[in-house]
Amino acid sequence: MTTAETIRREDAFQIPTYNKYPISLERGEGSYVWDADGHRYLDFYGGHCVTILGHCPPAVVEAVQRQTGQLMFYSNVVYSSVRAAAAERLAELAPEGMGHAFFCNSGAEANETALKMARTHTKRRVIVSMEHGFHGRTLGSLAVTAEEKYRMPYEGVLPETWWVPFGDLDALSAMLADHPDAVAGVILEPIQSMAGIFEAEEAYYRGLRALCDQYGVMLIFDEVQTGVGRTGTFSISAHYGMKPDMITLAKSLGAGVPVGAVLLSDAISEGVKAGDQGTTFGGGMLAMAAVEANLATINQDQLMARAPEIEARIRAGIGPLVSAIRGRGCLLGIVLDRPAAPVIKALRERGVLSGGAGDPHVIRIMPALTTRDEEIDVFVQAFEEAIANA
Ligand code: PLP
Repeated sequence: MTTAETIRREDAFQIPTYNKYPISLERGEGSYVWDADGHRYLDFYGGHCVTILGHCPPAVVEAVQRQTGQLMFYSNVVYSSVRAAAAERLAELAPEGMGHAFFCNSGAEANETALKMARTHTKRRVIVSMEHGFHGRTLGSLAVTAEEKYRMPYEGVLPETWWVPFGDLDALSAMLADHPDAVAGVILEPIQSMAGIFEAEEAYYRGLRALCDQYGVMLIFDEVQTGVGRTGTFSISAHYGMKPDMITLAKSLGAGVPVGAVLLSDAISEGVKAGDQGTTFGGGMLAMAAVEANLATINQDQLMARAPEIEARIRAGIGPLVSAIRGRGCLLGIVLDRPAAPVIKALRERGVLSGGAGDPHVIRIMPALTTRDEEIDVFVQAFEEAIANA
Protein backbone atom coordinates (compact mmCIF):
# COMPACT_ATOMS: atom_id res chain seq x y z
CA MET A 1 0.00 0.00 0.00
CA THR A 2 1.39 3.46 -0.87
CA THR A 3 1.77 6.20 1.74
CA ALA A 4 -1.03 8.20 0.10
CA GLU A 5 -3.40 5.23 0.29
CA THR A 6 -2.55 4.54 3.96
CA ILE A 7 -3.10 8.18 4.91
CA ARG A 8 -6.48 8.18 3.14
CA ARG A 9 -7.63 5.00 4.89
CA GLU A 10 -6.35 5.90 8.39
CA ASP A 11 -7.96 9.30 8.25
CA ALA A 12 -11.22 7.79 7.03
CA PHE A 13 -11.59 5.44 9.99
CA GLN A 14 -10.01 7.21 12.99
CA ILE A 15 -11.01 10.33 14.88
CA PRO A 16 -8.60 13.16 14.07
CA THR A 17 -6.94 13.53 17.49
CA TYR A 18 -3.34 13.61 16.25
CA ASN A 19 -1.22 15.90 14.13
CA LYS A 20 0.82 13.42 12.11
CA TYR A 21 3.89 13.54 9.93
CA PRO A 22 2.81 12.63 6.37
CA ILE A 23 4.78 9.38 6.34
CA SER A 24 3.72 5.76 6.79
CA LEU A 25 6.37 3.65 8.47
CA GLU A 26 6.53 -0.02 7.62
CA ARG A 27 9.82 -1.34 8.98
CA GLY A 28 12.56 -0.52 11.46
CA GLU A 29 16.02 -1.78 12.32
CA GLY A 30 18.42 -0.17 14.78
CA SER A 31 18.43 3.60 14.41
CA TYR A 32 16.59 3.51 11.07
CA VAL A 33 12.99 3.21 9.91
CA TRP A 34 11.65 2.82 6.35
CA ASP A 35 8.43 4.22 4.94
CA ALA A 36 5.99 2.58 2.57
CA ASP A 37 7.67 4.21 -0.42
CA GLY A 38 11.09 2.86 0.52
CA HIS A 39 12.57 6.06 2.04
CA ARG A 40 14.91 5.51 4.95
CA TYR A 41 14.92 7.79 8.02
CA LEU A 42 17.44 8.10 10.82
CA ASP A 43 15.15 8.05 13.84
CA PHE A 44 16.12 10.61 16.49
CA TYR A 45 12.51 10.78 17.70
CA GLY A 46 12.12 7.14 18.77
CA GLY A 47 8.34 7.04 18.41
CA HIS A 48 8.20 9.77 21.05
CA CYS A 49 10.98 8.73 23.39
CA VAL A 50 10.16 5.00 23.33
CA THR A 51 12.66 2.95 21.31
CA ILE A 52 15.57 3.07 23.72
CA LEU A 53 17.34 0.14 22.02
CA GLY A 54 16.48 1.31 18.51
CA HIS A 55 13.99 -0.54 16.36
CA CYS A 56 13.35 -4.27 16.62
CA PRO A 57 16.23 -4.97 19.05
CA PRO A 58 16.98 -8.67 18.50
CA ALA A 59 16.88 -9.68 22.19
CA VAL A 60 13.45 -8.11 22.72
CA VAL A 61 12.08 -9.46 19.42
CA GLU A 62 13.29 -12.93 20.32
CA ALA A 63 11.87 -12.79 23.87
CA VAL A 64 8.47 -11.55 22.69
CA GLN A 65 8.31 -14.12 19.88
CA ARG A 66 9.18 -16.91 22.31
CA GLN A 67 6.63 -15.72 24.86
CA THR A 68 3.95 -15.34 22.16
CA GLY A 69 4.22 -19.03 21.36
CA GLN A 70 4.25 -20.03 25.02
CA LEU A 71 1.62 -17.95 26.86
CA MET A 72 0.50 -14.57 25.57
CA PHE A 73 -1.53 -13.48 28.52
CA TYR A 74 -2.84 -14.21 31.90
CA SER A 75 -3.83 -11.64 34.50
CA ASN A 76 -2.49 -11.02 37.99
CA VAL A 77 -4.75 -13.66 39.45
CA VAL A 78 -1.88 -16.07 38.78
CA TYR A 79 1.90 -16.01 39.18
CA SER A 80 4.23 -16.02 36.17
CA SER A 81 7.95 -16.70 35.90
CA VAL A 82 8.43 -14.00 33.24
CA ARG A 83 6.70 -11.43 35.46
CA ALA A 84 8.86 -12.49 38.38
CA ALA A 85 11.98 -12.09 36.24
CA ALA A 86 10.96 -8.65 34.97
CA ALA A 87 10.10 -7.41 38.47
CA GLU A 88 13.40 -8.69 39.86
CA ARG A 89 15.36 -7.10 37.03
CA LEU A 90 13.59 -3.79 37.63
CA ALA A 91 14.31 -3.98 41.36
CA GLU A 92 18.02 -4.51 40.62
CA LEU A 93 18.16 -1.32 38.57
CA ALA A 94 15.87 0.78 40.80
CA PRO A 95 17.33 3.15 43.40
CA GLU A 96 18.03 1.35 46.66
CA GLY A 97 14.96 0.97 48.83
CA MET A 98 12.62 1.22 45.82
CA GLY A 99 12.59 -2.43 44.88
CA HIS A 100 8.82 -2.95 44.61
CA ALA A 101 6.88 -2.23 41.43
CA PHE A 102 3.32 -2.03 40.21
CA PHE A 103 2.97 -2.85 36.50
CA CYS A 104 0.43 -1.12 34.29
CA ASN A 105 0.14 -0.23 30.62
CA SER A 106 1.08 3.41 30.03
CA GLY A 107 2.63 6.52 31.49
CA ALA A 108 -0.70 8.12 32.38
CA GLU A 109 -1.75 4.97 34.20
CA ALA A 110 1.54 4.87 36.11
CA ASN A 111 0.97 8.46 37.21
CA GLU A 112 -2.64 7.70 38.22
CA THR A 113 -1.32 4.90 40.39
CA ALA A 114 1.34 7.05 42.03
CA LEU A 115 -1.18 9.81 42.77
CA LYS A 116 -3.56 7.30 44.34
CA MET A 117 -0.77 5.78 46.42
CA ALA A 118 0.28 9.23 47.66
CA ARG A 119 -3.25 9.90 48.82
CA THR A 120 -3.81 6.53 50.49
CA HIS A 121 -0.38 6.55 52.14
CA THR A 122 -0.67 10.06 53.61
CA LYS A 123 -4.48 10.10 54.04
CA ARG A 124 -4.34 13.60 52.53
CA ARG A 125 -5.97 14.89 49.39
CA VAL A 126 -4.16 17.69 47.56
CA ILE A 127 -1.48 17.16 44.93
CA VAL A 128 1.05 19.87 44.09
CA SER A 129 2.27 19.99 40.53
CA MET A 130 4.60 22.17 38.49
CA GLU A 131 3.70 24.84 35.98
CA HIS A 132 4.45 23.67 32.41
CA GLY A 133 4.58 19.99 33.42
CA PHE A 134 2.95 17.20 31.40
CA HIS A 135 1.75 13.92 32.89
CA GLY A 136 -0.76 12.33 30.50
CA ARG A 137 -4.34 12.47 29.27
CA THR A 138 -6.41 10.42 31.72
CA LEU A 139 -8.38 12.59 34.15
CA GLY A 140 -6.09 12.01 37.13
CA SER A 141 -2.92 12.65 35.14
CA LEU A 142 -4.55 15.57 33.39
CA ALA A 143 -5.37 17.13 36.75
CA VAL A 144 -1.63 17.56 37.34
CA THR A 145 -0.80 18.55 33.74
CA ALA A 146 -0.32 22.29 33.48
CA GLU A 147 -1.08 22.99 29.82
CA GLU A 148 -4.50 24.65 29.86
CA LYS A 149 -5.51 23.53 26.40
CA TYR A 150 -5.46 19.90 27.60
CA ARG A 151 -6.93 20.50 31.07
CA MET A 152 -9.46 23.30 30.87
CA PRO A 153 -12.28 21.36 29.15
CA TYR A 154 -12.38 19.03 32.17
CA GLU A 155 -12.11 21.58 34.99
CA GLY A 156 -14.69 20.76 37.63
CA VAL A 157 -14.26 17.00 37.52
CA LEU A 158 -10.51 16.94 38.12
CA PRO A 159 -8.94 16.19 41.53
CA GLU A 160 -7.65 19.29 43.32
CA THR A 161 -4.19 20.42 42.25
CA TRP A 162 -2.14 23.34 43.50
CA TRP A 163 0.50 24.83 41.21
CA VAL A 164 4.02 26.08 41.83
CA PRO A 165 6.65 27.27 39.34
CA PHE A 166 9.16 24.55 38.40
CA GLY A 167 12.55 25.26 39.96
CA ASP A 168 11.17 27.55 42.69
CA LEU A 169 11.73 26.00 46.12
CA ASP A 170 10.59 29.12 47.96
CA ALA A 171 7.14 28.95 46.36
CA LEU A 172 6.71 25.32 47.41
CA SER A 173 8.09 26.01 50.86
CA ALA A 174 5.61 28.86 51.41
CA MET A 175 2.71 26.73 50.17
CA LEU A 176 3.56 23.83 52.44
CA ALA A 177 4.13 26.13 55.41
CA ASP A 178 0.66 27.66 54.88
CA HIS A 179 -0.99 24.22 54.62
CA PRO A 180 1.23 21.80 56.56
CA ASP A 181 -1.29 18.92 56.63
CA ALA A 182 -3.02 19.21 53.27
CA VAL A 183 -0.61 17.96 50.64
CA ALA A 184 -0.37 14.26 49.80
CA GLY A 185 2.18 14.45 47.02
CA VAL A 186 4.36 16.62 44.83
CA ILE A 187 4.68 15.40 41.24
CA LEU A 188 7.12 16.61 38.63
CA GLU A 189 8.97 15.68 35.49
CA PRO A 190 12.59 16.08 36.61
CA ILE A 191 13.25 17.30 33.07
CA GLN A 192 10.14 18.98 31.69
CA SER A 193 10.17 17.41 28.27
CA MET A 194 7.01 18.37 26.40
CA ALA A 195 7.48 21.97 27.55
CA GLY A 196 10.84 22.13 25.76
CA ILE A 197 13.43 20.29 27.91
CA PHE A 198 13.85 22.30 31.10
CA GLU A 199 15.93 21.00 33.99
CA ALA A 200 16.43 22.81 37.31
CA GLU A 201 19.66 23.18 39.27
CA GLU A 202 20.70 19.90 40.90
CA ALA A 203 20.33 21.43 44.37
CA TYR A 204 16.65 22.05 43.63
CA TYR A 205 15.87 18.33 43.64
CA ARG A 206 17.64 17.83 46.94
CA GLY A 207 15.69 20.80 48.30
CA LEU A 208 12.46 19.18 47.13
CA ARG A 209 13.40 16.02 48.99
CA ALA A 210 14.08 17.97 52.18
CA LEU A 211 10.81 19.91 51.98
CA CYS A 212 8.76 16.78 51.30
CA ASP A 213 10.44 15.05 54.26
CA GLN A 214 9.74 18.04 56.49
CA TYR A 215 5.99 18.03 55.70
CA GLY A 216 5.43 14.28 55.23
CA VAL A 217 4.67 14.72 51.51
CA MET A 218 5.26 11.97 48.92
CA LEU A 219 7.66 13.07 46.19
CA ILE A 220 6.78 11.58 42.80
CA PHE A 221 9.21 11.69 39.89
CA ASP A 222 7.45 11.23 36.57
CA GLU A 223 10.31 9.52 34.74
CA VAL A 224 8.18 8.41 31.83
CA GLN A 225 10.70 10.20 29.59
CA THR A 226 13.86 10.44 31.71
CA GLY A 227 13.79 6.88 33.06
CA VAL A 228 15.30 3.53 32.04
CA GLY A 229 18.78 4.94 31.47
CA ARG A 230 18.03 7.62 28.91
CA THR A 231 19.94 10.27 30.88
CA GLY A 232 22.81 7.93 31.81
CA THR A 233 21.42 6.49 35.06
CA PHE A 234 18.37 4.27 35.49
CA SER A 235 16.61 7.01 37.47
CA ILE A 236 17.68 10.60 36.95
CA SER A 237 17.59 11.00 40.75
CA ALA A 238 21.03 9.36 40.89
CA HIS A 239 22.48 12.47 39.19
CA TYR A 240 20.98 14.63 41.92
CA GLY A 241 22.09 12.55 44.91
CA MET A 242 18.57 12.04 46.25
CA LYS A 243 15.63 9.66 45.91
CA PRO A 244 11.94 10.35 45.37
CA ASP A 245 9.24 8.22 47.06
CA MET A 246 7.82 7.01 43.77
CA ILE A 247 9.08 6.84 40.20
CA THR A 248 6.74 6.37 37.25
CA LEU A 249 8.06 4.69 34.12
CA ALA A 250 6.65 3.83 30.68
CA LYS A 251 7.89 4.70 27.16
CA SER A 252 11.41 3.15 27.12
CA LEU A 253 10.51 0.44 29.62
CA GLY A 254 9.22 -2.04 27.03
CA ALA A 255 11.56 -0.92 24.19
CA GLY A 256 8.44 -0.47 22.03
CA VAL A 257 5.98 -2.82 23.71
CA PRO A 258 3.34 -0.88 25.71
CA VAL A 259 3.98 -1.12 29.45
CA GLY A 260 4.15 1.18 32.46
CA ALA A 261 5.34 0.77 36.03
CA VAL A 262 5.56 2.58 39.32
CA LEU A 263 8.52 2.00 41.61
CA LEU A 264 7.62 2.64 45.25
CA SER A 265 9.67 3.22 48.35
CA ASP A 266 9.71 0.41 50.88
CA ALA A 267 7.72 2.58 53.30
CA ILE A 268 4.87 3.00 50.83
CA SER A 269 5.03 -0.61 49.58
CA GLU A 270 4.69 -1.96 53.10
CA GLY A 271 1.34 -0.22 53.56
CA VAL A 272 -0.23 -1.45 50.30
CA LYS A 273 -3.03 -4.04 50.58
CA ALA A 274 -4.70 -6.32 48.04
CA GLY A 275 -7.30 -4.31 46.13
CA ASP A 276 -5.62 -0.92 46.51
CA GLN A 277 -4.89 -0.83 42.77
CA GLY A 278 -5.41 -3.15 39.81
CA THR A 279 -5.46 -3.51 36.04
CA THR A 280 -6.26 -6.48 33.84
CA PHE A 281 -3.42 -6.14 31.39
CA GLY A 282 -0.70 -4.77 33.72
CA GLY A 283 2.08 -7.33 34.14
CA GLY A 284 0.89 -9.34 31.12
CA MET A 285 3.38 -11.88 29.80
CA LEU A 286 4.23 -10.25 26.47
CA ALA A 287 5.00 -6.91 28.11
CA MET A 288 6.99 -8.62 30.86
CA ALA A 289 9.06 -10.56 28.33
CA ALA A 290 9.88 -7.28 26.62
CA VAL A 291 10.76 -5.54 29.90
CA GLU A 292 13.02 -8.37 31.01
CA ALA A 293 14.87 -8.58 27.70
CA ASN A 294 15.15 -4.80 27.42
CA LEU A 295 16.55 -4.30 30.92
CA ALA A 296 18.88 -7.28 30.56
CA THR A 297 20.28 -5.82 27.33
CA ILE A 298 20.74 -2.34 28.79
CA ASN A 299 22.52 -3.85 31.76
CA GLN A 300 24.70 -6.43 30.00
CA ASP A 301 25.78 -4.10 27.20
CA GLN A 302 26.36 -1.25 29.69
CA LEU A 303 24.27 0.98 27.46
CA MET A 304 23.52 3.63 30.07
CA ALA A 305 27.18 4.66 29.80
CA ARG A 306 26.54 5.51 26.14
CA ALA A 307 24.07 8.31 27.02
CA PRO A 308 26.68 10.94 27.99
CA GLU A 309 28.89 9.95 25.04
CA ILE A 310 26.02 10.38 22.60
CA GLU A 311 25.16 13.71 24.20
CA ALA A 312 28.76 14.93 23.99
CA ARG A 313 29.08 14.05 20.30
CA ILE A 314 25.79 15.77 19.45
CA ARG A 315 26.79 18.87 21.43
CA ALA A 316 30.17 19.00 19.71
CA GLY A 317 28.55 18.58 16.28
CA ILE A 318 25.70 21.05 16.40
CA GLY A 319 26.40 23.18 19.49
CA PRO A 320 28.07 25.96 17.48
CA LEU A 321 25.03 26.19 15.15
CA VAL A 322 22.31 26.74 17.74
CA SER A 323 21.36 29.02 20.65
CA ALA A 324 21.58 26.29 23.29
CA ILE A 325 21.20 22.57 23.85
CA ARG A 326 19.25 21.64 26.96
CA GLY A 327 18.78 18.29 28.67
CA ARG A 328 20.88 15.22 29.36
CA GLY A 329 22.04 12.10 27.57
CA CYS A 330 19.51 10.92 25.02
CA LEU A 331 16.83 13.48 25.92
CA LEU A 332 17.89 16.78 24.39
CA GLY A 333 16.24 20.04 23.38
CA ILE A 334 17.94 22.02 20.62
CA VAL A 335 17.09 25.69 21.07
CA LEU A 336 16.98 27.71 17.85
CA ASP A 337 16.88 31.44 17.20
CA ARG A 338 13.90 30.82 14.90
CA PRO A 339 10.78 28.61 14.78
CA ALA A 340 11.64 24.93 14.95
CA ALA A 341 8.84 23.57 12.72
CA PRO A 342 10.46 24.39 9.35
CA VAL A 343 13.77 22.90 10.53
CA ILE A 344 12.03 19.70 11.72
CA LYS A 345 10.43 19.45 8.27
CA ALA A 346 13.74 20.13 6.53
CA LEU A 347 15.36 17.42 8.65
CA ARG A 348 12.64 14.97 7.68
CA GLU A 349 13.15 15.83 4.00
CA ARG A 350 16.81 14.96 4.58
CA GLY A 351 15.89 11.63 6.12
CA VAL A 352 16.01 12.45 9.86
CA LEU A 353 13.07 12.25 12.29
CA SER A 354 12.95 14.67 15.23
CA GLY A 355 10.18 16.30 17.27
CA GLY A 356 8.86 19.67 18.40
CA ALA A 357 7.96 20.94 21.87
CA GLY A 358 5.69 23.39 23.66
CA ASP A 359 8.42 25.98 23.19
CA PRO A 360 8.15 26.64 19.42
CA HIS A 361 11.88 27.30 19.10
CA VAL A 362 12.88 23.86 20.39
CA ILE A 363 13.60 20.63 18.49
CA ARG A 364 13.55 17.58 20.71
CA ILE A 365 15.73 14.59 19.96
CA MET A 366 15.55 11.26 21.77
CA PRO A 367 18.08 8.96 20.08
CA ALA A 368 18.42 5.35 21.19
CA LEU A 369 21.18 4.32 23.62
CA THR A 370 22.42 2.08 20.80
CA THR A 371 23.02 5.02 18.43
CA ARG A 372 26.44 4.71 16.78
CA ASP A 373 28.90 7.57 16.31
CA GLU A 374 28.52 7.37 12.50
CA GLU A 375 24.77 7.83 12.90
CA ILE A 376 25.30 10.93 15.02
CA ASP A 377 27.53 12.26 12.24
CA VAL A 378 24.72 11.64 9.74
CA PHE A 379 22.42 13.64 12.03
CA VAL A 380 24.93 16.48 12.34
CA GLN A 381 25.37 16.68 8.56
CA ALA A 382 21.59 16.72 7.99
CA PHE A 383 21.16 19.32 10.72
CA GLU A 384 23.74 21.64 9.14
CA GLU A 385 21.93 21.39 5.80
CA ALA A 386 18.48 21.80 7.36
CA ILE A 387 19.50 24.90 9.29
CA ALA A 388 21.07 26.40 6.18
CA ASN A 389 18.07 25.69 3.96
CA ALA A 390 14.96 25.84 6.14
N1 PLP B 1 4.47 11.63 31.61
C1 PLP B 1 5.28 12.21 30.71
C2 PLP B 1 6.46 12.97 31.20
C3 PLP B 1 5.04 12.07 29.34
O1 PLP B 1 5.86 12.63 28.46
C4 PLP B 1 3.92 11.31 28.92
C5 PLP B 1 3.63 11.15 27.48
O2 PLP B 1 4.17 11.78 26.62
C6 PLP B 1 3.09 10.74 29.90
C7 PLP B 1 3.40 10.91 31.22
C8 PLP B 1 1.91 9.92 29.50
O3 PLP B 1 2.33 8.70 29.02
P1 PLP B 1 1.35 7.82 28.10
O4 PLP B 1 1.19 8.56 26.81
O5 PLP B 1 2.06 6.50 27.96
O6 PLP B 1 0.06 7.71 28.85
